[in-house]
Amino acid sequence: MEHELKTIHEAQQLDTQIIEKEKKLVSAPMMIEAMDQEIEELKSKILKEKEIIDELEKERRKKEKELDIDKEKIKKHESKLYEVKTNKEYQALLKEIETAKATNDKTEEDILILMEKVEELKKDFEHLSAQLKKSEKEFEQKKNKLLKEVETIDKDVRKLKEERDNLLSIVSKNLKATYRTLIEKRAGTAVVNLKNGVCLGCFMNIPPQLFIEATKNRQLILCPSCNRIFYFQEEFEEQ
Ligand SMILES: [Zn+2]
Repeated sequence: MEHELKTIHEAQQLDTQIIEKEKKLVSAPMMIEAMDQEIEELKSKILKEKEIIDELEKERRKKEKELDIDKEKIKKHESKLYEVKTNKEYQALLKEIETAKATNDKTEEDILILMEKVEELKKDFEHLSAQLKKSEKEFEQKKNKLLKEVETIDKDVRKLKEERDNLLSIVSKNLKATYRTLIEKRAGTAVVNLKNGVCLGCFMNIPPQLFIEATKNRQLILCPSCNRIFYFQEEFEEQ
């Protein structure tokens, strides 16, 4: 039994490594997905900005056309000024010209505001586009690195599992079954150490006699609280 206990303790160390590595295997695709999502968000933000810019440019061109037409109108009115016969007609025409000019001023102002807005948005658009390029390059490298890591970890896990199965092959069927059940039900920790009468799996006190027996590693003793398998080891001083 002593040898068997030592063996499943070793198997536990391998399983602990396997679980750590498998966590990384699960997180890698999520990290890749998060990167893809960030790129997609950036792309749609850029696209939306481009749409707004196009819309504002359209609006500006429309106003410029209006302005041209109105300027033409004013010219016509102005040339008419010399043809009118009465003062009343002259005054009316003058007023029309004035109103048209005021409208033009407002249109010109609107055009200026639109141009400023477009310029500002274009700057932002360029900034975002550069950021997209940078992120795409950066993420591509990160993804490749991650995929390579996954490949290595995958190999490691397979090797560790083989080692663990080899170890467990010399352990009795019952102990193996107990071990496997505990690995599954106790979050990957089936074999635990003890210290000062406490189970280091669940941190409950155990009866003194049981503790003494457990420190001998001579027989299979399960924690009365968490059912984990005891394997006693003098703890190394932490450096
Ligand atoms: Zn316990």
